[in-house]
Amino acid sequence: MSKLPNISTSIFTVMSKMATEHNAINLSQGFPNFPVNERLTDIVAKLAKENVHQYLPMSGYPPLLSKIATLVDDSYGRIIQAETEILVTAGATQGIFTTILTLVKTNDEVIILDPSYDCYEAPVLLCNANPVRVALNDDYTPNWATIEKVCSSKTKMIIINNPHNPTGKILTKSDFEALEILLEKYPDILLLSDEVYEYITFEEKHISAHTREKLLHRCVIVSSFGKSFHVTGWKVGYLVAPENLMKEIKKVHQFLVFSVNSICQVAISDYLDLVSVDEIGKLYQEKRDYFRQLLKESRFELMPCEGTYFQVASYAAISNENDVDFCKRLIIEHGVAAIPISTFYADGKDLKLIRFCFAKDNTTLEEATKRLCAI
Ligand code: PMP
Ligand code: GLN
Repeated sequence: MSKLPNISTSIFTVMSKMATEHNAINLSQGFPNFPVNERLTDIVAKLAKENVHQYLPMSGYPPLLSKIATLVDDSYGRIIQAETEILVTAGATQGIFTTILTLVKTNDEVIILDPSYDCYEAPVLLCNANPVRVALNDDYTPNWATIEKVCSSKTKMIIINNPHNPTGKILTKSDFEALEILLEKYPDILLLSDEVYEYITFEEKHISAHTREKLLHRCVIVSSFGKSFHVTGWKVGYLVAPENLMKEIKKVHQFLVFSVNSICQVAISDYLDLVSVDEIGKLYQEKRDYFRQLLKESRFELMPCEGTYFQVASYAAISNENDVDFCKRLIIEHGVAAIPISTFYADGKDLKLIRFCFAKDNTTLEEATKRLCAI
């Protein structure tokens, strides 16, 4: 008897495994393949010999909590209380899972905007609650009128993801204004804002929920050091939430993981003294531009990419296959792995679109695009 009968192995696992089996270049699952900054690995090497190997306090390493508070203030001008409003989590995934498990009850509804990243639905289902999947507009902007139509007294939470995986779209000031007007009518709806790519935006600046005063009392914001410092495998992220919500979230967190791995927390805390998050967007903007330029001669049509390290492309000029079959053939026959966009939709809508991850060293991007241009 499955508790999640309709959930299968994540497409990221499936495609990465297939890429390995066929020795393909893996532009599917989102992770960087270039070396981590030496200053960070030096810190880890030094810490390995120090006394940092035991449990840390449940909410997080205290110096890291205060540095997160400073980071949020520097980035967004928001003052938060390190002790009561921040929780270090085992990646954003655990932060999202714990938030939903804590705040969503049986028969509640949670609005998820499609295409959507895959980690929102399962925790909603495990709460015996109902995910309500609402499609974004064709240009991937939220359709606030449609969203409002599905809001009711049953709605417990709306999940937004900004910058957006997989489309790279970022929310505008007018999106937030529309959301604020909508939520004013529903004082009990909570907002979960997944901002793991907050520092990866390009021409337009990221607008964080941290800067939207009217939303803060009902908003849980999720960040990930895995994305910001190119260490996805460390699985260290954090939540920021008002004290009343955070108090409840911590009750669940303490029995889910108790505290997050010590050496990575201390290393990130030390590293935050040495680096600036301002460089992250620039690094990925160069990668995005290079990748797009290398694909200019290909038959793929590239969609706009405002943020994240993902590029969505249409293969409609190449093949009529569905996107899952196309991605499988891309691996087997052409040696490049990508993610089919239909897997981000509740109804598996096939738009002949696939997602490439460009968080790769230039040699990898050059070889991958050489293969893609030859199709
Ligand atoms: N949210 C989004 C939109 C993501 O793309 C990811 C992918 N890693 C996560 C959350 C999870 O982040 P983490 O690896 O820190 O758990
Ligand atoms: N967030 C990553 C992506 O979108 C996947 C992480 C995972 O495999 N859980 O590719």
